[in-house]
Amino acid sequence: MLPRPLFNDGFSTVVFDRNGMLLGAKVAPDQQWRFQGDTILPYKFEKAILNYEDKYFYYHPGINIFSIVTSIRDNLSAGKIVRGGSTISMQLIRISRKGKPRVYVEKLIESIMAIGLECTHSKREILSLYSANAPFGGNVVGLNAASWRYFKRSPEDLSWAESATLAVLPNAPALIHPGRNRDALKLKRNSLLKDLYEEKIIDSIQYQLALLEPIPDEVVPMEQLAPHFLEFVNSKFSGKLTYSTIDIKKQQLLNSIMAQHAPTLKEFGVENGAALIVDTDTKEILAYAGNFSNQKMEIKDAFNDMIQAKRSTGSIMKPFLYAAMLDGGEILPNSLIRDIPSYFDNYFPQNYTNEFEGAVPASLALSKSLNVPAVYMLQEYGIGRFLILLKQLGFTSFKRNADFYGLTLILGGGEASLFELVGAYAGMAKVVVDYDKNYGKYPENPYQPLRYSINRKPEKENYYNNKVLHASSIWLTYNALRKVSRPDSETGWENFTSSSKIAWKTGTSHGFKDAWAIGSTADYVVGVWAGNATGLGRNGLSGTKSAAPIMFDIFNSLDLKSEFYPPYDEMNEIEVCKQSGYPASRYCSETEIITNGVQEKPVKVCSYHKHIFTDKNTEFRLSQECADISEMYAHNWFVLPPVQEHYYSKKHPAYRPLPPLKRDCGKADEENAMDFIYPTNNSSIYLAVDERNRRREAVFEISHNSQNAIVYWHLDNKLIGITQANHQLDYKPEIGKHTLTVVDQAGNYKSVKFNVLH
Ligand SMILES: [Zn+2]
Repeated sequence: MLPRPLFNDGFSTVVFDRNGMLLGAKVAPDQQWRFQGDTILPYKFEKAILNYEDKYFYYHPGINIFSIVTSIRDNLSAGKIVRGGSTISMQLIRISRKGKPRVYVEKLIESIMAIGLECTHSKREILSLYSANAPFGGNVVGLNAASWRYFKRSPEDLSWAESATLAVLPNAPALIHPGRNRDALKLKRNSLLKDLYEEKIIDSIQYQLALLEPIPDEVVPMEQLAPHFLEFVNSKFSGKLTYSTIDIKKQQLLNSIMAQHAPTLKEFGVENGAALIVDTDTKEILAYAGNFSNQKMEIKDAFNDMIQAKRSTGSIMKPFLYAAMLDGGEILPNSLIRDIPSYFDNYFPQNYTNEFEGAVPASLALSKSLNVPAVYMLQEYGIGRFLILLKQLGFTSFKRNADFYGLTLILGGGEASLFELVGAYAGMAKVVVDYDKNYGKYPENPYQPLRYSINRKPEKENYYNNKVLHASSIWLTYNALRKVSRPDSETGWENFTSSSKIAWKTGTSHGFKDAWAIGSTADYVVGVWAGNATGLGRNGLSGTKSAAPIMFDIFNSLDLKSEFYPPYDEMNEIEVCKQSGYPASRYCSETEIITNGVQEKPVKVCSYHKHIFTDKNTEFRLSQECADISEMYAHNWFVLPPVQEHYYSKKHPAYRPLPPLKRDCGKADEENAMDFIYPTNNSSIYLAVDERNRRREAVFEISHNSQNAIVYWHLDNKLIGITQANHQLDYKPEIGKHTLTVVDQAGNYKSVKFNVLH
């Protein structure tokens, strides 16, 4: 006879902060505020509701004959129904049979069903079902929702006056609405309090104090402190109460920082921004702003949660590659990396400076976020291998193969979410922090996704080898991101008092669509994204200018106590060549001792220093073929390959090219005299077309280490030009394969093969 279950209405999704403060909630599917709650009723509310509704609840079998008789008598003399005489069990049946008319027949059915209910349910079950499903005014259903909605606290924390207020509502829910009802509500509450006092449930002091308490003010909208986080949790645990890892104070702080920055960015045509604060030690999310919100925190952008959105990563993944190459023994922190004009599959990466350094220490390339060295590094490391690393760091977004992404992967050729990126950075930071705290132990699975719920165990599905990267490689990487000079010489960074503790990296995607900044400290990891959710680019949008200021404001509001300490057990000293940053060879004239970490294999020694002989004035190189040993002076000379030398010497005036070989001193080992800048060997090139659809000329270019060299250019054995000093030549080759050869007056020559595509 009884429907089972008695109620099957959906619940609101409710999110609390880590200390049980309400962060926000969504109405249930039937548009009611109905929170799941504890089955055990708080003492004060139970006393209040039973005194008000059903004093003999624990003694009657579901119906109370005395009360029915009294109510029939009263109703007959009044000529209408003035009192229900219903027990809580009957009222529960009535609530479950929604919208039935209040007539005697219905009352009879309710009575019979109430007896049935008592046979199948304990008194406590009936009382908690009643509290969970009774109406409390408007679209508020159940004690739990009412308690949060009207008093902003959980039912256990309600005072006697508040419990009494709620106890009178189920039978007069309209009283909660403002206006003249307020006095009626107060009268009913006070009369219940008096009852409780007379029953000796509260003493006279409690009674007097309770009478002084106001009844709730006008009902304000439900708390919405983290609307996008609520949607995110709703997508996982809809209709549940979730005790999240969010810290309400930090959430409010983040909300106000985002609100300060939003107008500036909007003026600039940037409509959206997102930020995350994560605890380094636990990888728990402490604050989550999925997008800019208006003051009312309206969730019109509910589905534009830019923390979960997949966006082009720009340069934000470069530190992973740097750390991995340190780990693999491919580089030392300051190893020279090529930074020269280069074509990769007809793709021409540029640095943001539009300049080339020739050769640049890896750590400087990282902190200045140079693109060309990063592409060379990825080429050496391998795209496929890098994709495996990203998976191990917890990324699930990079689903395609190496060919799909190509070398642009390191410059933003793939998409990932702020959630994943901050997760990877926080995982790395956690390794360094735990290594220090736990005497050289690695955390169990540092690269699992960020945690957001404290009533759930860490997710196990992304269990990866915890030594993806050694603590030492991560520490060296964060060290490079911590102390080196910053791009664009932005003013104001030095005002951030704690900036020396922050290892931070920015990124800007192609077309100025995404600005990223992620900073790591031993206490917190903060990630910021800014841009347009629509994908519209804004000239001038950059990680440094648009995202980093928000990140620094967030860090400034946080208390940074700890630092990253080097993982001493993994650190060792190594003698390196000061100029090349590689392990010193016997020819390296200036060396220094640096602190290095664990590497899979030793890094190959410096190959930049050559042992040569010159005359007394170091004007010419000599050999034993042309000079007596007594007039030969030995040197260890730092020599870069020609194209690198070409760019490097412009930035380093002290750089001295190798002196020319003296006449008759043998054949020049002239791989170093000159080299091609464009085209490179075995490359395929397209010729640009002009407005009349005619192919333009290509600009061939070489570098030569001698200032006054004269160079003869041959295409497929036909002389096509002569250059001096500036070795650029405009020429329009036919479509197809060619060989280009350059010869200088000293007889040095060099060839490249290339293919002109249609
Ligand atoms: Zn060297």
